[in-house]
Amino acid sequence: MPKFDADYVPRSAMAIYAHPDDIEFTVAGTVAKWARAGCEVTFVLFTSGNVGTHDPKMTRDRLARVREREEREAARIQGVRNVVFLRKDDCELAATLALRKSLVRLIRRHRPEVVLCNDPQALFFGDEYVNHPDHRAAGQMALDAVFPCAEMRLLWPDGGRPHKVHAVYVSSTHSPNTWVDIAETIGTKIAALRAHRSQLGDRDLSPRIYGWATAEARRAPARKAGGRGRDRRPRFAEAFRVMRLLREETPPES
Ligand SMILES: [Zn+2]
Repeated sequence: MPKFDADYVPRSAMAIYAHPDDIEFTVAGTVAKWARAGCEVTFVLFTSGNVGTHDPKMTRDRLARVREREEREAARIQGVRNVVFLRKDDCELAATLALRKSLVRLIRRHRPEVVLCNDPQALFFGDEYVNHPDHRAAGQMALDAVFPCAEMRLLWPDGGRPHKVHAVYVSSTHSPNTWVDIAETIGTKIAALRAHRSQLGDRDLSPRIYGWATAEARRAPARKAGGRGRDRRPRFAEAFRVMRLLREETPPES
């Protein structure tokens, strides 16, 4: 049985998010760390962010093309080659059965050990940020596709062979239970974010990213350092609610 803890590295993972740049803001440190350790990662983006601009000369089609290019570049920086765009319209994402079925098909094709997604229940962050409706819809669809749909043999048999995802790493959550140490990859996370020039321009986001990762690390429970008996916390962390779906009674996939 895998431990799904802060040191766990899956063999394969799928990150399912709403917009280009969501993965980079939330989980890129973990993705880059896992990819470096040999994990095969696939990104699935519901939208190509085709309304994310205030430029009066920009069109939806051109923006989508720019943002897909930026996301592919960000993925490459994280060590990820597979990026799937479902090309739904930005700001109009709703949890539908048709989209859940598309996700089930992708999960059954790529067979990830772990799925990463946003917490669909998180609505308010502090006093200033109301979570985007697309983020909540994307998180809901990812969780519903993982469990129970992808593993049910009699559901959508035309959508591929059933697959059991071992664990879900839920990000942007108010109820974290696992903190992944991203000290080795926080620089990669910042570099991946910089690829989103249409959104961020030349703004230096590193103080914000260091600030968030430090705050998360402070919330992590201290772990015993090897033999010396002193408690140790990561310096920089990404926080997750990890849901362990692989239980003792489930035989692991051969
Ligand atoms: Zn977003």
